[in-house]
Amino acid sequence: MKIFVDYDTTLINLIDPWVDWINKRYSVNITSNDINRWYFLGEVFDKTANDFWRSEEYNHYADKEFLLPFEGAVDFFHALEEKYGKSNVIIISATRKHHKEEKIKHAKYYFGITDEQFIASEKEKYEYTKDGILIDDYPLHVMEHIHHNNQKGIVFNYEDRFGWCKLHNYGLDEKFTKFSQITKNDNFSMATSYEQVLKELDDENY
Ligand SMILES: [Mg+2]
Repeated sequence: MKIFVDYDTTLINLIDPWVDWINKRYSVNITSNDINRWYFLGEVFDKTANDFWRSEEYNHYADKEFLLPFEGAVDFFHALEEKYGKSNVIIISATRKHHKEEKIKHAKYYFGITDEQFIASEKEKYEYTKDGILIDDYPLHVMEHIHHNNQKGIVFNYEDRFGWCKLHNYGLDEKFTKFSQITKNDNFSMATSYEQVLKELDDENY
């Protein structure tokens, strides 16, 4: 069994530095809970609200002290490696070309991965995850994975802090419409801590 783990906002905290950046830039006071759909920031503010992770101007991954793993993330990742074997635990991350090199270095620095343990996805994520479980903060990636691959997927919402992961907000993202039944699928689940993910994998004998 392979375990595919998303990077941004699943293992590392991309969201708090981004929210801080937004609050300063637009003189507002939002939290990650207010971000109730994927395109919230670009729609509520303006398209440049996504520059934080999209613009070639920034390469935050190069600064190891700026984007940090969530508390418990490193232990979680190693616990997965111990259980499934190092080569079966793979970080999968949609990656801008100008971030790729530094992002992989960042992941190596914190998680001690090999090159083979990082997929910088350029296609849809589910195309890479046919033979395993996907753990990701973006519900659409999990839904598509379950729909196309008929494998388990877990929506990860660290400490239940992200609005876009919450079931009652799924109706706000029109991309989710097609997958409204997936949330009732046995392969679909949600977790708000790394312990919960590990326990669930154990309980279900994965
Ligand atoms: Mg993510």
